[in-house]
Amino acid sequence: MKKKKATLSIVVPAYNEQEVIEEFHRRTATVLDTLADIDSEIIYINDGSRDATIALLLKLMQGDARVQVLDLSRNFGKEAAMTAGLDHARGDAVIVIDADLQDPPELIPGMLREWQAGYHVVCMQRLTRDGESALKKATARGFYAVMGRMGQIRVPENVGDFRLLSRQAVDALKQLPERTRFMKGLFAWVGYSTKLVPYKRDPRHAGVTKWNYWGLWNFALEGITSFSVAPLKMASYFGMLTALFSMAYGFFVLGKAFLYGDPVPGYPSLMVVVLFLGGLQLLAIGVVGEYLGRMFIELKQRPLYLLNQHHRAGLQPPSDCD
Ligand code: UDP
Ligand code: MG
Repeated sequence: MKKKKATLSIVVPAYNEQEVIEEFHRRTATVLDTLADIDSEIIYINDGSRDATIALLLKLMQGDARVQVLDLSRNFGKEAAMTAGLDHARGDAVIVIDADLQDPPELIPGMLREWQAGYHVVCMQRLTRDGESALKKATARGFYAVMGRMGQIRVPENVGDFRLLSRQAVDALKQLPERTRFMKGLFAWVGYSTKLVPYKRDPRHAGVTKWNYWGLWNFALEGITSFSVAPLKMASYFGMLTALFSMAYGFFVLGKAFLYGDPVPGYPSLMVVVLFLGGLQLLAIGVVGEYLGRMFIELKQRPLYLLNQHHRAGLQPPSDCD
């Protein structure tokens, strides 16, 4: 009896990628053509692109029955776009890959081999970050260090979103309901047997990166606050320490006044203490605010993304899987 063919979904978030999307598809399709024993689908997510990306994607769909296009109603960000793709992927294995060819599609067969060997998650770990500035490399390293120290989960270093997930891992991921989606953390949180495969990350084939440092900073905050309450604890420990210190200083001042009388001076020390405590309090309130803000966002339970349209080749089945 012939075994049922395994199925593979490729999830590709794309935002303003008109310069590379065709080349990406050409290379990916070539790789998928070589996989004789696997049926595949390619799910492109158009994340509210403002260029010709959607037109190009629809054209690709005309020429390749494996292609589906999820057109989001606006730009929701890569994390939401990936979530949309994972929600609609039907394969036994799902691979998330960037559209800009920084993650070479030629590595897909190797990832599948690890999956067939029994791993649920295959993470691609970059050895090089060619084409990225020294500052970005340094900040990335700092982030992983902080994250590793604070969180209960371990986010493997230099592992991006390029990875394979088994059906079981995808279904597990889909159960996580949070609105603020730090995917690297969520991927790590679900666990399952994981294989790290090193690879050389190419520079962007064409087009420009969608990240800036402000974006990255917020992304890092997101990562830390979604997976760790350490900053909250730190705020209370800082508070405790300063309270102890203030108490000791208070005794010292009182003692001095009793022994030597109190000839009024003390403006500088008073100022220092007031300013220091004021700053500390603002900082602590800010930390609390970060968490409160996220609770506010979670509380609203808004959908993670909105679909404008799900383009599929051929007959449209009744929309029960949307
Ligand atoms: N992307 C997206 N929505 C966004 C920003 C980026 O879908 O709001 C996609 C983008 O098209 C690309 C991937 O996410 O396929 C990675 O983006 P980029 O190359 O800009 O990030 P970098 O590789 O510099 O981290
Ligand atoms: Mg990139």
